Amino acid sequence: MRRKVVAGNWKMNKGLKDSTALVQEIIQKNNSFNCDVYVAPAFPFLNEVSVVSSSSQIKVLAQNVSSKSNGAFTGEVSVDMLKSINIKSVIIGHSERRMLFGEDDKTLKMKLENCFKNDMEVFFCIGEKLDMREKGMQNDVIENQLENTLFDIDNVNLEKLIIAYEPVWAIGTGVNANSDQVQEIHCHIRKLLNFRYGKESSDLIPIIYGGSLKPDNSRNIFNCSDVDGGLVGGASLNSETFIKIIDSI
Ligand code: PEP
Repeated sequence: MRRKVVAGNWKMNKGLKDSTALVQEIIQKNNSFNCDVYVAPAFPFLNEVSVVSSSSQIKVLAQNVSSKSNGAFTGEVSVDMLKSINIKSVIIGHSERRMLFGEDDKTLKMKLENCFKNDMEVFFCIGEKLDMREKGMQNDVIENQLENTLFDIDNVNLEKLIIAYEPVWAIGTGVNANSDQVQEIHCHIRKLLNFRYGKESSDLIPIIYGGSLKPDNSRNIFNCSDVDGGLVGGASLNSETFIKIIDSI
């Protein structure tokens, strides 16, 4: 059976005190989840959040990582640096990285290769913008995104891969994709994974949904047969709403 995953992406929110307080609150309010739970604080607080959550079920996730190993790359953080503070999972290809920081398929492919080579677990984000959804081209977009990156590399560790389908028009907008839209595209992603990697191996890859998930829409979305969890932005910044979303799985 595929594992269920819910991850909170805190983005560039919460300083040291608030980051550790939030993870502590989550642990205190509920320390027995029926899925894998991750939180992704900002880089400077990964270590502290990791220490605070070390004896809990919560895993700590980085929001980004460099495609390079080390050297003169001002402002970058390497896989080895993350591993040195016991961070073993990272988000790659978030639409904010693609759109605001110019991360193209070539860069994302290098980041993926670097992560898999170094045994990192990857949450790989894909998803279409509104204009492509309106033209009915969402399947073509995600196919291209996968073919130009993940499907074009040989060293993918399928056991360390989670696909996050995040329609760009749903991220931070309060407008989530409805469960029919989510199921349809997750089913398509599953078929693409089956075709590329073979059914047996790829059936174990979780495909999670992200985009304005809230306690009042998560249950419907998580009930879809091809949805294995969620990537939560805004609603993960509050322990109560985040726990409600986790519990709805
Ligand atoms: C995200 O940024 O990955 C995200 C899903 O954000 P939100 O839940 O706020 O739409």
